[in-house]
Amino acid sequence: MDPEIKREIIMEHYQNPLHRHHVDDKSYDMVNTANSSCIDNLNIYIKYDGDVIKDIAFEGEACAISISSTSIMIENLIGKTREEALNIIDNFENMINEKEYSEDVLGNAVVYSDIYKQNSRKSCAFLPYRGLREALTKKDNGKS
Ligand code: ZN
Repeated sequence: MDPEIKREIIMEHYQNPLHRHHVDDKSYDMVNTANSSCIDNLNIYIKYDGDVIKDIAFEGEACAISISSTSIMIENLIGKTREEALNIIDNFENMINEKEYSEDVLGNAVVYSDIYKQNSRKSCAFLPYRGLREALTKKDNGKS
């Protein structure tokens, strides 16, 4: 993907993030995810329909990389099963750590494929995925 297009997608999702709003609905699970090295501190809300992620929303303060990454992740993960979502999270983690990954499952999240060059930003891009993994894993072990 062209670097200019990558930048545009990141800016678009930073300026107009998808599903950024408070959720006051007990049918959603909530997970907090934060970076001590940045201002990033987000609450992420997830609603399931059986094994499928029906909705995700988020609120809080974070840098441009974190906000855009969260918005892009949400766009990609709604409608996916838990297993598909965990696979996407693994592939994203591999990508930002310069390991082998499947571009096909990542959608627009490939805009962060060069983020390894800025080591301090990696945890910003990964922030929502870390939170989602925690939420999905907790659900596996818990009340479901
Ligand atoms: Zn950040």
